[in-house]
Amino acid sequence: MSARVQRPALDRFRLPAAVLVVCIHTGPLTSVSEGWDFWLTSVLARTAVPFFLMVTGYFLARSDWKSTGRFLKKTALTYLAAVALYLPLNLYNGGYKPLEWLQKLLAEGTLYHLWYFPGVILGVFIARGLSRLGQPAALAIGAALYLIGLGGDSYYGPVSALPGPAAFYNAVFTLFGYTRSGLFYVPLFLLLGAAGRRWSQTTSLTGLALSLSAMTAEGFLLRYLEWPRHDSMYLTLPLCMIFLFSLLLTRNQGVDRRARRLSLLVYLLHPWSIVLVRGGAKALKLTPWLVDNSVGHFAAVLALTLALALALDALRPIRPSPTNRAWKEIDLDALRHNGSILQARLSPGCRLMAVVKADGYGHGAAVVARCLQKSGVRAFAVACLTEGIALRRAGIWGTILVLGHTPVEEVPLLRRWRLVQAVADEAHGAALNAAGAPVRVHLAVDTGMRRLGVPAEDGASLARLWRMKNLRVEGLFSHLCVSDRLDRASMEYTRAQLARFYEAADRLRKDGLDPGKLHIQASGGILNLPPQPCGYARAGIALYGAGSDGASSALEAELRPVLSLRARVACVRTLRPGQGAGYGLAFQAERDTRLAVVSIGYADGLPRELAQNGGRALLHGQSCPMVGRMCMDQLFVDVTDLPQVRPGDTVTLIGRDGALTIRAEEAARRCGTITNELLSRLGGRLGQVVRQ
Ligand SMILES: *Cc1c(COP(=O)(O)O)cnc(C)c1O
Repeated sequence: MSARVQRPALDRFRLPAAVLVVCIHTGPLTSVSEGWDFWLTSVLARTAVPFFLMVTGYFLARSDWKSTGRFLKKTALTYLAAVALYLPLNLYNGGYKPLEWLQKLLAEGTLYHLWYFPGVILGVFIARGLSRLGQPAALAIGAALYLIGLGGDSYYGPVSALPGPAAFYNAVFTLFGYTRSGLFYVPLFLLLGAAGRRWSQTTSLTGLALSLSAMTAEGFLLRYLEWPRHDSMYLTLPLCMIFLFSLLLTRNQGVDRRARRLSLLVYLLHPWSIVLVRGGAKALKLTPWLVDNSVGHFAAVLALTLALALALDALRPIRPSPTNRAWKEIDLDALRHNGSILQARLSPGCRLMAVVKADGYGHGAAVVARCLQKSGVRAFAVACLTEGIALRRAGIWGTILVLGHTPVEEVPLLRRWRLVQAVADEAHGAALNAAGAPVRVHLAVDTGMRRLGVPAEDGASLARLWRMKNLRVEGLFSHLCVSDRLDRASMEYTRAQLARFYEAADRLRKDGLDPGKLHIQASGGILNLPPQPCGYARAGIALYGAGSDGASSALEAELRPVLSLRARVACVRTLRPGQGAGYGLAFQAERDTRLAVVSIGYADGLPRELAQNGGRALLHGQSCPMVGRMCMDQLFVDVTDLPQVRPGDTVTLIGRDGALTIRAEEAARRCGTITNELLSRLGGRLGQVVRQ
């Protein structure tokens, strides 16, 4: 595949658009010709902000508005930084009264160019809401809002002569200052961007030329009639924007993040440049050239703004790309899907408890838990105290149960982080109790696995634990050890475990002691048993869409794998017959061979024996065998039959590429292990990409 020429037209156009905004605020041609300056700043430059809004709508809609939350957070943070940046100017100008501050902050912006941020935040809420009505209805309502806005902007003259509208607009202006705001102006352009109409280049160019001429005529006519109260909205402006955007889309390919950052900086910084150029010119006695002469003024402001923007951009922290070597891809759609499939399988009163131990089985506990919390999961299980604390720090506020043994010295931490501790046996419970402060606990019951828990038959022990002064018993649980097997003996064993568990709970109840929430199913139990009369079911591996080694059920087939594992080709070697490669020269070429050296190894958590046990990888949608011995940081893939493989290509070790998929189960089976082990061992130095 030859390298494609990238033409990120949408991103690149942000720079001229930002310069047009600088034009609006400097009036570059005022000393040359007032007519030309009007055309530049009040007609042509009026395309700049709608363009930014359309790009925003375009990208938000492409993510199905799922990235809205992130976008709003980023925009709000940028806005706060900008407010702080311009605070000195606000204070120098006398500041605002408290209520005025609130109105400026939330509606109008604290300086003239900052209206954009509260505007786009409000507009995105409205546009996303409208988009649920379907595109035609959304656009119609957006256009209606825009028309109302027009009446308070370029068409204010005749409109304000009517008493009703005059009162309406006066009310609007106490809140927004202009109708060019998040309510009337922003939604239409966001929605037009979201629609992303694209015609041929000729149509777009012709349309743009015609509509720009029409807008020029409209602008000059309205100026002649003295109708405008402000001149940021025209009847023909949306038309102009549709054609301009279409033209850019016809030549849009790839992204230019630098252009994005620089254009934002130009937008944010230029008012400071205006102040500094004025001050500097006065100090240097250059006022006639740098202030009075509009061209000189514009050039000085633009040069200073660009210099500041470039300097700030050079200072920004640079992080390596997560996909530069080897990485995991986490598909949150699949995770949500699995969560709802499993929840639907449980009895009505029973809720999913998401098991996110071992960093969410290698998927990233924080990412997994946050996603599930958003979709309604309220209980989580971890293996140890440290994992529980990490979840709280990540913003998880529901129940967090620590399944493993926590030594009594750590009781204060259990309390501080509001964690629930599993009681491993009577001695553990007694020690926790002796720590002297109340601890929330679930009692573990051993029904036949003989790992942790009080023996199920020992009702006296369970009752003693329940009555301990400092143990707040909120649940009773057990763990099944053969529930993933469907042979008769295993199923018999599981039935006996269930019976012992419910008997233990009943015995407590008979003593008048409330066992709290019951839970005994893990993934195997959820998939293979009928719904249980429990409060929770603890799902681990099934949530991640991977099977353990047991039998597969119909439900299991509905689960979708959440994780993919990918790496880059570092280089491609050519071997002649008889040449060997790698440690021990374990690979011996029998024909002319091309080997791809792939940047992932056993230190990333892939089992070393995978390469020798028939492991394979996907490149360009084709399956290729691993060969030789896996190294700590590299492995070999035979790509003799794929001449198009190049350094930098993506290699899929687990997951899908084109029509082919390698499942974690397959890789685990080749290495004599289960997906739980394979996934939870994936190493910390892997990059991570999360698909929302
Ligand atoms: C790990 C674990 C689970 C989750 O098991 P899966 O088979 O991955 O669903 C549930 N309960 C306990 C006690 C565990 O240790």
